[in-house]
Amino acid sequence: MEDLDLRHASAEKNSAGTSGPPYALETLAIRAGQRRTPEQEHNDPIFTTSSYVFNSAAEAAARFGGQLPGNIYSRFTNPTVRTFEERLAQLEGGERCVAVASGMAAIAAVGYSLLKSGDHVVCSRGVFGTTTLFFQNFLAKFAVETSYVGLTDYAGWEQAMRPNTRFLLLETPSNPLTEITDIRRLADLAHAHGALLIVDNCFCTPILQRPLSLGADLVVHSATKYLDGQGRCVGGAVVGGHDLLEKTVYAYLRTVGPTLSPFNAWVFLKGLETLNVRMKAHCENALGLAQWLEQQPQVSCVHYPGLPSHPQYELAQRQQSGGGGIVSFELAGGKDAAWRVIDGTRMLSITANLGDVKTTITHPATTTHGRLTPEERVGAGISDGLVRIAVGLENLDDIIGDLRAGLG
Ligand SMILES: *Cc1c(COP(=O)(O)O)cnc(C)c1O
Repeated sequence: MEDLDLRHASAEKNSAGTSGPPYALETLAIRAGQRRTPEQEHNDPIFTTSSYVFNSAAEAAARFGGQLPGNIYSRFTNPTVRTFEERLAQLEGGERCVAVASGMAAIAAVGYSLLKSGDHVVCSRGVFGTTTLFFQNFLAKFAVETSYVGLTDYAGWEQAMRPNTRFLLLETPSNPLTEITDIRRLADLAHAHGALLIVDNCFCTPILQRPLSLGADLVVHSATKYLDGQGRCVGGAVVGGHDLLEKTVYAYLRTVGPTLSPFNAWVFLKGLETLNVRMKAHCENALGLAQWLEQQPQVSCVHYPGLPSHPQYELAQRQQSGGGGIVSFELAGGKDAAWRVIDGTRMLSITANLGDVKTTITHPATTTHGRLTPEERVGAGISDGLVRIAVGLENLDDIIGDLRAGLG
C-alpha cells in the first residue's frame, strides 16, 4: 500500500493494483505519486531538465547498467512525468504506467512494441478513426493484419480470433453512438485464445470505468481529453502490468522517443486533481441534456448510456459509474436539420474535440467520419442527421438554450 504521507516522501516503489486502490479514487487523483523534494514544495514542481548528473563514474556506470535505479535522461524518465505516471497507474489500478506524447503515440507504442510481422489484431469497428489509419497505413506494412468487428457483436469477435491474434482493441462507450460492450466477456475471450485485451479508456477515464479490474490487460489513454479536461495539452499513456509494460512499451519509449514533456505532464497532474468532480459534473449535465433531447419532437433518437432507452443500459449501470459526457442524437430532417442546429448555436464550440469544460458540437457524417463512403457510414450507424455533443460544464440551461435556437 502506498504511503501518501508526503512528509516522509519515499523513493520506494508502491505496490498499487494488487487489490484495488488503497485510497479512494478522489484521494489518489489528488495525491498519488507526489514525492516532495527537500524544498518542501506543496505543489508538484516541473523538472525542466533533459539529463541528470551522477556522483561518480561508478554511479553513472551502475545507472546505465540498470543495477541502480534513478534518472539518466529525460527521454527515459523525468520526475514530473513519473508523478503523472504513478498517479494514473493508481487510478486505473495498474502496476505501471508509461506516459507518452499523445494518445496516438500510446496506441502506436502498443502496436509497434507488442506486434511482430505475421501477427493479427482484432479491432472494434467503432474506434477512433486515426487508430484505424495506423493499422491500415503503418502496421499493414509489416504484415500485421487487422480484422474489424462490431463492438457488441460477440459472435463476430469470436469468429475473428486466429491462432496468431496478439490482441483485441476496443473503446467503450463507442464514438459517437455510445455503444457499450462487456469488457469482462471480451477479456475472457482474448485470454482463452492467448491474446491480450486493450481498452482505450479515453471516454470514461478511471473515475467512471476501470477496465483492468474487469480483466483487460492494458489501458490506453489520450490525456488530451478528460485527463487534462481543459483543452490545453496533447499527451497519452499506457497502463497495465509492470513486466509487460517494462519489456514492451517502456523499452519502445526509451529507444524510439515519443516522450511526454514535463510541462504537459504537470498540466495533466493539475487536470487529474479535478478529474473526479469534473467527470461527475460532465455526467450530470450530459444526462440532463439527453433527457431534454428525448422530449424534443424533431429528435428521432438519443444515444446516451445513462438513459433507460439505451440498448446496453443494464451493462452500462454495471460496468460504469456514470454515463459519461458524450451525447449524440438524430434529427429526422437529415443533414440540413443537423447543420441548422449546429449553425444555430452561439455559445457551443463547433469542433470535433471532446473532454473539455467547454461544450463542443459536431456533425460526424461530414467531419470525423467524412472519409468513409456513404455505405460504410450506414454500416457504422452514422446517419446524416446525427449530431454529437461533448457536454461541458457550462450551465445546463444555457447549453439547452443554445440548441433550442436551431431545433425550432
Ligand atoms: C483523441 C483520441 C485518441 C488520440 O489521442 P491524441 O491525444 O489526439 O493523439 C485516441 N483515442 C480516442 C478515443 C480519442 O478520443
